[in-house]
Amino acid sequence: MKKLLSFFLLATFLLFPILLSAQQKSKTGMLKLQSPQNPRLGFVIHGGAGVIKRGSLSPEREKEYRAILEKSVLAGYKALQSGKSSLDAIQAAIIIMEDSPMFNAGKGSVFTADGKNELDASIMDGKTMNAGAVAGLHTVKNPILLARAVMDKSPHVMMIGDGAEKFAKEMKLELVPEKYFWTQRRWDSLQRIIKREKEREKAKKEGKQVSINEYFELPENKFGTVGAVALDKDGNLAAGTSTGGMTYKKYGRVGDVPVIGAGTYADNKNCAVSATGWGEFFIRLSVSKDICSLVEYKDMGIQDAANMVIKQKLQKAGGDGGVIALDNKGNIGISFNSEGMYRAYINDKGEPVVEIYGD
Ligand code: ASP
Repeated sequence: MKKLLSFFLLATFLLFPILLSAQQKSKTGMLKLQSPQNPRLGFVIHGGAGVIKRGSLSPEREKEYRAILEKSVLAGYKALQSGKSSLDAIQAAIIIMEDSPMFNAGKGSVFTADGKNELDASIMDGKTMNAGAVAGLHTVKNPILLARAVMDKSPHVMMIGDGAEKFAKEMKLELVPEKYFWTQRRWDSLQRIIKREKEREKAKKEGKQVSINEYFELPENKFGTVGAVALDKDGNLAAGTSTGGMTYKKYGRVGDVPVIGAGTYADNKNCAVSATGWGEFFIRLSVSKDICSLVEYKDMGIQDAANMVIKQKLQKAGGDGGVIALDNKGNIGISFNSEGMYRAYINDKGEPVVEIYGD
């Protein structure tokens, strides 16, 4: 009996460190079993942040948004479940939103000040840390596909304007006439801003004080970019983002979306992030990379890192918008300082959850 007891004690003593090392303390402080047989898939999307107050959408409109967000998040998740890579899952989800007129990306892109559409997109592979970005597109139906082609099939990271379109043709991607991107809703928004800008100009001439912030406070300017972050069965993270930019932007203006580290970032060791919001601020603050750096250097949980950058740094700087993020254990971070953000994710039970408002 004594022998048996000492054998048991010895075995426990020897096995304890082995059992402990099979568990890794996650950065959120919870112990999670790391099992290669049971990898955790992660998938989160956004469809833009902005003034989306409860009651500001009609019930029909809200239903439409919820339906398309669910369709998109499920498309990405199904791709992951069928064994596809995080990059493929992101692409599948973003294409659905780019093809919908409801988001400010692809078909539903906003207009520049001179009535054109200039689209930007990017994608990043957390495994290789390779990335592809495109800016100032006029005829590429799905900018996210061109970003992917730049990453996979060119030696470059970023291509813009006519050159990028030429590359799209070479890659045999679908091109559309510029009028494909024309939608009444976005055109009306532009007209409202033009009218408002004229009034502001007049006020300025009359010596009144006009703040630049006013322009961005208009509901027409409230974003709508789309993005996705994913963690696949092999533990690879990826992020992708696509946008028409901001209404009334000047010719040639490029926002944060195609700037790696600002609107999009992925690194298997730490996290994947896709952003939406007032791009100039996201570029200046390197928002996506900053979040991953907090995870890397400060060992911060993904939600805390996202909150620190959005609710403290971005907020203090005067910018607004939000991010979706995933760490390499599949923990989700979602943060925004705007009133709402169209978003959807797959929960622990593998079910889609769609959210819009901030409360
Ligand atoms: N971040 C985008 C840009 O500044 C706009 C958006 O998120 O809707 O181009």
